[in-house]
Amino acid sequence: MSFVQLPESVTTCRNLVGGEWLVPRDASLLDVHSPYTGGVIGRVPLTPAEGVAQAVEAARAAAPGWRATSLRERTTLMARFRHLLESNLERLSHLAASEAGKTVAEARAGLLKGIEVCDFALSLQNLDTGGAMEVSRGVSCEFRREPLGVVAGITPFNFPAMVPLWMFPIAVTVGNAFILKPSEKVPLTACAMGELMVEAGIPRGVFSVVHGGRETVEALVAHPDVRAVGFVGSSGVARRVYAEGSAQGKRVLALGGAKNHLIVVPDADEALTAQSVVDSFTGCAGQRCMAASVLLAVGDVQRIVEQVHERASRMEVGPGMGALIDRASLTRLETAIAAAERAGARVLLDGRGKKPAGEKWAGGYWLGPTILEGVRPDMEAAQRELFGPVLSIVRVPTLSAALEVENASPYGNAASIFTTNGAVAQAVVDGARVGMVGVNVGVPVPREPFSFGGTGESKFGHGDITGPSSLGFWTDLKKVTRKWTTRTDGSWMS
Ligand code: NAD
Repeated sequence: MSFVQLPESVTTCRNLVGGEWLVPRDASLLDVHSPYTGGVIGRVPLTPAEGVAQAVEAARAAAPGWRATSLRERTTLMARFRHLLESNLERLSHLAASEAGKTVAEARAGLLKGIEVCDFALSLQNLDTGGAMEVSRGVSCEFRREPLGVVAGITPFNFPAMVPLWMFPIAVTVGNAFILKPSEKVPLTACAMGELMVEAGIPRGVFSVVHGGRETVEALVAHPDVRAVGFVGSSGVARRVYAEGSAQGKRVLALGGAKNHLIVVPDADEALTAQSVVDSFTGCAGQRCMAASVLLAVGDVQRIVEQVHERASRMEVGPGMGALIDRASLTRLETAIAAAERAGARVLLDGRGKKPAGEKWAGGYWLGPTILEGVRPDMEAAQRELFGPVLSIVRVPTLSAALEVENASPYGNAASIFTTNGAVAQAVVDGARVGMVGVNVGVPVPREPFSFGGTGESKFGHGDITGPSSLGFWTDLKKVTRKWTTRTDGSWMS
């Protein structure tokens, strides 16, 4: 049985620099493994600082010409790219699934969300008309957005298409030359999107792809000609990228990890709640920053917990739930489950050792849905981001106690309340210390133009990565004050 089309040959990824696809000089090559089988599906160059400088130079050379085009011309080109994304949806979904371990449906959903961000970028020509006002007789003030020049986006493995698409459609449409540094674990989708940008007619150097890991990121963040860095990844790296970039006077928005809480109270709708909890902690095999991680069970919600258990037990790894990104993740999660057991938690549902049937998948990195019962708020399983299909159930007596646990988390991406009572819902909307809050929604990702972004250690920097505030991130706001009057009586503001 095959639930994903894996690439038929091993591709060596190249950088897209100045409109040319090339393997950077002196770059070592890293194997790219499919999480589904463990087999090698690609090779990715780790670009050293010299290769980064070459890409920045090509982008710097292209930036003035791109800036000089009108928003309408840039929008027309990005509309062609959007069209190509849509017409290649199935191929890209299988590619993203095969390198990230997602199901094809999940990969498709990520692409569709990315297309939604493209739509936001394409609407700017009609919506972002700046603003002008006559502030005094004969004197007007006006806002103008100006691109920054060369900007970069550094992205994680878990959304090979969607997270880059949070950034470059907006950054490029507003007139920047953008350099994408995708995760070295999922470079193939980034190359495919680069090919579509070239096919859409993007001028040389306006969109670049530079592959690599830590050294490549450090070179990009340190390069004096890179004016802004968008980063999405784990909190430790996000904090460092934010600190290093900001210290050099760059604009940095760095989204980090998460530990999301779903609060369930006794009056919640049983079936809706149970299914939402299961979808949230098992979707993308728990490898998403919006995944449920802690179920805060308020009072007697045993019937709902039993339904969560029953529905999660029926999930089939492979067709129903994808794989973990690599062996290191699998080992880390197995270690965390064992540590939770030693700390006193009970493994209500054990996903260890679960694999899809068939020899083909035997080398993949599989973990079935796992539920830990009796987790205390002070345990690692309740505090640390595990990034896998593991749900920790923490029992609390009251809603205030639930909010206390939620508020104590250093992260701040998402929280949800499941209830049929408006006042209870409102208390959580008001009291949760997160950037994105849901009511009866397991994965409270806002639809665009409601923007994406958390708080606390889930985000370093101001504003959000999508939506209206992203415009402020990728542009400078110039204020123009004009006076055309010939009157000389009184002050100019009279
Ligand atoms: P990661 O931090 O390991 O890698 C992210 C990017 O940083 C990659 O491009 C990688 O090459 C680079 N990188 C890795 N280590 C580095 C280092 N030491 N110095 C400089 N650069 C480095 O993250 P990941 O494992 O690819 O992705 C999973 C993490 O991303 C999870 O923590 C998840 O919660 C988070 N995430 C957050 C959001 C969000 O919106 N907040 C969205 C998606 C993923």
